Amino acid sequence: MAAVAAPGFPGWVIEHGYLRELQPWETLRDDLPSARTSPIVAPPPRNSLDPARARLERLLLDDAPPPPPPRPLISTRVIDGRLPSAAKVRAAEAAVDHVPAAIRAKLSRAGARIELIAGVDVAAHPQFSHHPHARYCGMTKFAEPFAAVAVDADRDPGATVLHELGHILDQVAAHPSRSAGWGEIWERDKRSGKVSAFADQRTRPSEYFAESFSRLWSPRPGVWPSSRAAERFIMGLC
Ligand SMILES: [Zn+2]
Repeated sequence: MAAVAAPGFPGWVIEHGYLRELQPWETLRDDLPSARTSPIVAPPPRNSLDPARARLERLLLDDAPPPPPPRPLISTRVIDGRLPSAAKVRAAEAAVDHVPAAIRAKLSRAGARIELIAGVDVAAHPQFSHHPHARYCGMTKFAEPFAAVAVDADRDPGATVLHELGHILDQVAAHPSRSAGWGEIWERDKRSGKVSAFADQRTRPSEYFAESFSRLWSPRPGVWPSSRAAERFIMGLC
């Protein structure tokens, strides 16, 4: 389209011999040497395309895969100038992605957070500095849905991340590990040899709860199996 600016009317152009008001999307190229004879670039009004574009977008959205279910927030923190490696962070995220979507959604709605740190001792984390003599790979706060995991303690930190996430679920669901129902499962599983001595599980039902959570969804093959009763109990919390 060729047009010339109407003399004395900066917002108007003469086009095919007629005076026409400039539209908002049009600009007079007055930066060029001869503004009066410069072509005006006028793209078609966007609105004329919108119904078709909206239909297409709706179609594309309908066919798009559903968004991934939410994952409790995993972040990293620098401790002693070090960050966990990307490979360890990926392993932690992959482990959490094994947890059923309903449980993940419950945890993320409650604001669950896991912070990954480099090193082998989680007591280096500022949130747990009151445990100077403890050497733990993972630790969960009782007052908030928060845990820290030192990812270099293990070749694959996923199991520890899941164990701490089990403690967080226990908190978020108002401590079902203290209930009579869980107590029965714990006693029965102890008698049938399903409760190992690892991580205080034989003395504390809350540790068996966290460890069952970890074993149920650990991506690592050959993990000590948890009982079906434990699995049903934990799944029933969602
Ligand atoms: Zn624990």
